[in-house]
Amino acid sequence: MAVKYIPEPFRIKMVEPIKMLTREERKQKIKEANYNLFNLKGEDVYIDLLTDSGTNAMSDRQWGGVMHGDEAYAGSSSYFKLVEAGKDIFNYGYIQPVHQGRAAEKVLFPTFLTKGKFAISNMFFDTTRAHVELAGARAIDCVIEEAKNPSHRCKFKGNMDVKKMEEIILEKGAENIGLVVMTITNNSAGGQPVSMANLRETAIICKKYNIPFNIDAARYAENAYFIKRDEEGYQDKSIKQIIREMFSYADMFTMSAKKDTIVNMGGLIGVKDAESPLILKIKANCISYEGFFTYGGLSGRDLEALAIGLYEGIDEDYLRYRNGQMEYLASRLDDAGIIYQAPIGGHGAFIDAKAIFPQIPYYEFPGQVLAIELYIEAGIRTCDIGSYMLGNDPDTKEQLQADFEFTRLAIPRRVYTQAHFDIMADAIIAVRDRAHEIKHGYKITWEPPILRHFQALLAPIEE
Ligand SMILES: *Cc1c(COP(=O)(O)O)cnc(C)c1O
Repeated sequence: MAVKYIPEPFRIKMVEPIKMLTREERKQKIKEANYNLFNLKGEDVYIDLLTDSGTNAMSDRQWGGVMHGDEAYAGSSSYFKLVEAGKDIFNYGYIQPVHQGRAAEKVLFPTFLTKGKFAISNMFFDTTRAHVELAGARAIDCVIEEAKNPSHRCKFKGNMDVKKMEEIILEKGAENIGLVVMTITNNSAGGQPVSMANLRETAIICKKYNIPFNIDAARYAENAYFIKRDEEGYQDKSIKQIIREMFSYADMFTMSAKKDTIVNMGGLIGVKDAESPLILKIKANCISYEGFFTYGGLSGRDLEALAIGLYEGIDEDYLRYRNGQMEYLASRLDDAGIIYQAPIGGHGAFIDAKAIFPQIPYYEFPGQVLAIELYIEAGIRTCDIGSYMLGNDPDTKEQLQADFEFTRLAIPRRVYTQAHFDIMADAIIAVRDRAHEIKHGYKITWEPPILRHFQALLAPIEE
């Protein structure tokens, strides 16, 4: 039985029309896109679940803030408003706006990572991994084993395997570990949360070996909601109190504000210690890459919307509704016996495409096959989070096999309604029911050397 859908804690004041093409038109469009969903035009998509990044609906207050944005090159009042909000929520000494999450990585990572160094994470997000490698270092994932079994349900499935992390530190030498990165929630493992206890234990090991500890904070509010819901001792704490404790364990954070901060563009870097010598390096890199440090590649209006979004994103009624949408989708998938990374994560459903297409090997990209079929089925755009996204070994250039072959339905914030969720579930079930008719996957006919899934061209493998 489907769980009850939690009603939206808002009403709709402005609409954006969407339309569904015919099945024949969709088949033609995906072929013209060389079977890469990033090549589709937005207008040819009915329900766009490619990403929850920057696809959020801003509130009337945020749009009002856009009109108040102060466009001063230096010292804009919107900048000070943002800094105050950031300091208040995270209890950090320094807040730096940047234009998006990867800009935060580009500015911060080279100050810790160089050739020969390693960075350890519960799991690196794709651009985060890319920035570790662009800095010359190597990225090591260290998520708990439970995360690798999609149908195994456990709380805090995004956690770092702390024991394994310490073994890696000892094996590579503590002096060679440039950075530990905790991704909250753990996006690549299915938007799975990290517990407060795990953050604390990770911090203890980082201190012991004198390794800087960074939080990749894109979905910090959803993570805090999970801690409040599921971790003992946090039921009576406010989301803000939980966030402050989470961030107290790290030295700094990089954030894509396009996720939980409910804006369309923006990012942040935070440093706990207001006296840290790191701040001067951040400012210098920011000026070179992003712009003067009081705007960091953003317009004054973006800074203003971001400052407001920081508070809207941690509102508990909003988070309960947001989580409720995920629970509703999960219960429809459960009823149909669809396997996904369970329990459902914070920002989307990660469908086990390997379970739907057991006949398709990892090097023919089952996650991409399901993504293509969902577009053909109902005009839904999703993406592969599997071997297709993972790419090739940077040293041997061989195709890597991912731990998962997921197709991700990433849910934009405050955008889709219950009826859209029913269309998503119906489409997945319909594809599963005809999956045996699909014998082969796809091959790559062209790919760039890094972050290939955005640009690669694919073709169906024929008999
Ligand atoms: C989105 C994301 C990033 C990168 O942020 P962008 O704003 O897309 O550049 C980094 N880490 C995680 C976990 C993310 O989800």
